[in-house]
Amino acid sequence: MQPLVLFDMDNTLVDRQLALARWATSFRARYGLSHEDEAWLANLLAERAVPDHFEVIRLRFQLVESGTDLWDRYCADIAAAVRCPSGVLEGLEALRAGGWRIGIATNGQTDVQWAKLRATGIADRVDAVCVSEEAGARKPEPALFAEAVRRCGGVGDGIQAWMVGDSAVKDVGGGQGAGLRTIWVDHGSTWPQELPGPDHRVPDAHAAMDLLSSLGPRRNTT
Ligand SMILES: [Mg+2]
Repeated sequence: MQPLVLFDMDNTLVDRQLALARWATSFRARYGLSHEDEAWLANLLAERAVPDHFEVIRLRFQLVESGTDLWDRYCADIAAAVRCPSGVLEGLEALRAGGWRIGIATNGQTDVQWAKLRATGIADRVDAVCVSEEAGARKPEPALFAEAVRRCGGVGDGIQAWMVGDSAVKDVGGGQGAGLRTIWVDHGSTWPQELPGPDHRVPDAHAAMDLLSSLGPRRNTT
């Protein structure tokens, strides 16, 4: 059985923060809003975006579109704006060519997460995707990781299984709770000392892929 790695998507394989900033700028311009409004929008959606947010946005700015229409347009616009950092797509291809199975374990709404996965090309380079809304569990809950592993074909005794992500709690803590080895993508930040540390920490997703490539599958002896 091939080794398995699950990746977080937002701010791990794609730069959601930058895409959200671009989206907020374009939304401000489209509706003639202020820079303060732009900052408010970016802050509102910083952690997550759900359809209910767009009803709040509609009311605040007295927009004529429905909240549903605003959400649908957000999904399309954020997918068009989001980018993979350099080397991510090539790294996914190299991992699979090297014998790894790859899954995506992401919190979020199914439609917007899939829009980003398709627009960036990640969807074509992984074996399975598990989005919290349709899976009925959210990271760090073990059920989300278990479902992602199952969709990739499961893991047997002695098979390497890893979780890679930028969140200390959701990705690393969640992965640990699900029995996975973990790689923290730190983006230069400091590990919260009160939490058990990851197996490895790296500056970005591409470095995580290089590390995994060096570990297996032919050297899958640990
Ligand atoms: Mg993330």
